Amino acid sequence: MAEHLLKILIVGDGNVGKSSFTHRYTSGQFNSSYKMTVGVDFSVKLLHWSEREKVRLQLWDIAGQERFISMTRIYYRGALGCVVMFDVTNSSSFLNCLHWKRDLDSKAMLPSGEPVPCILLANKCDLPGRVVSAESVDGFSRAHGFITWMETSVKENRNVQEAMRRLVQDILSA
Ligand code: GDP
Repeated sequence: MAEHLLKILIVGDGNVGKSSFTHRYTSGQFNSSYKMTVGVDFSVKLLHWSEREKVRLQLWDIAGQERFISMTRIYYRGALGCVVMFDVTNSSSFLNCLHWKRDLDSKAMLPSGEPVPCILLANKCDLPGRVVSAESVDGFSRAHGFITWMETSVKENRNVQEAMRRLVQDILSA
């Protein structure tokens, strides 16, 4: 039985739903969460990926340091995948996804030298008052090298598992 250890980052502006996403995703199975002194929230989830493969995910949530729009290299070190999240009712959280992606790409890459696979999540799609259109997200996702993008509602548990499955699939097939 092969076991993969994957460090995955969850980045994006404050209040877009990162901690809720991590909690929603991990709380269905065994998970443990530690508040680190640097303010990074680190959770673990074990997936029985296939008959021959187990995947141990380490989800790193930046937990309140978003205002810097820039993370230390230590946070990015060893990351094999990334979720960039924004809130569809908050246009600046969408615009800032560019900074998040650039910050990641300037500080982290895979051992192969390729960029770290990234999925873009348009969260809170359950809310009325949406200000970011699907067309603009789609264009942005293609222009900036995301694997893909998905609409999510952490509140209604829409696309949370699906998004992580898509990201893990991409990482394992890299
Ligand atoms: P973070 O700062 O990015 O970690 O955001 P949080 O996870 O703390 O979420 C910020 C607020 O948005 C909280 O009040 C959440 O309950 C709420 N929230 C998170 N996801 C959703 C969602 O999909 N829909 C709605 N309506 N609210 C959400």
